[in-house]
Amino acid sequence: MNRCPVCAGRGIGKVGAGQYYCWDCCLELSVVGGTVTVYSIDLEGDLVPLVEGENGRCEVSGAGS
Ligand SMILES: [Zn+2]
Repeated sequence: MNRCPVCAGRGIGKVGAGQYYCWDCCLELSVVGGTVTVYSIDLEGDLVPLVEGENGRCEVSGAGS
């Protein structure tokens, strides 16, 4: 995989076996058996499955509340 399936950007990097990270939309992508699951990363660093239709964004901690 060399393109982000969410933003179609090329700013993704491999972070592990079957795991990628998109620097453009700040999402983690997990590929298992050809199926891509998209996760956002919450403020505590936990992976949260992304709700379909929701765009990933880099949330800056402390911005608003
Ligand atoms: Zn992306």
